[in-house]
Amino acid sequence: MIIFGTGSSTIQPKQLEGGSCPHCNTQNNMWIQGYKKYFHVFWIPFFPIGKKVYTVCGHCKGAFEKREIQNQELITSFTDFKNNHIKTPWYHFIGLIIFAAAVMLIAILPLLGK
Ligand SMILES: [Zn+2]
Repeated sequence: MIIFGTGSSTIQPKQLEGGSCPHCNTQNNMWIQGYKKYFHVFWIPFFPIGKKVYTVCGHCKGAFEKREIQNQELITSFTDFKNNHIKTPWYHFIGLIIFAAAVMLIAILPLLGK
């Protein structure tokens, strides 16, 4: 039996520059947070399948997706963070690396036996 599924790891929350909350209008208290999802086999991450990021207001704790943000400054800051600060950790590919190594070994072994 092969156990597989998806897992996720949370992204360290970071305060965004400027902007205000679409819900309560609190200034400069918007945070970005989210999580990365990956596919796992026997709990070994195989490959990443995406990330989810959203903003959270430090005051009212409301969570907003990018399309709910109207403030341009906040959108810029949000997009910058999403593109530049969320890196997929190498271990999200570890299953794929093991798999590739196993395939290579299987391909090489018969040659070594000759
Ligand atoms: Zn708020």
